[in-house]
Amino acid sequence: MGAVPKRKISKARRDRRRTHLKLTVPNLVPCEECGEMKRPHYMCPVCGMYKGIQVRPQKVE
Ligand SMILES: [Zn+2]
Repeated sequence: MGAVPKRKISKARRDRRRTHLKLTVPNLVPCEECGEMKRPHYMCPVCGMYKGIQVRPQKVE
């Protein structure tokens, strides 16, 4: 048997611990090229541009 807790964690203590477990919505800023919402400091997933340069090769130029 592995490590087993000696005492049950109370509901209050358990729930207090879980106050830090939450999902956060990522920040979104409009892409300068196509206007789609994207995450800041990330390449745009729609047009593949970042800081005005083509980062991802496009199928249609
Ligand atoms: Zn874009």
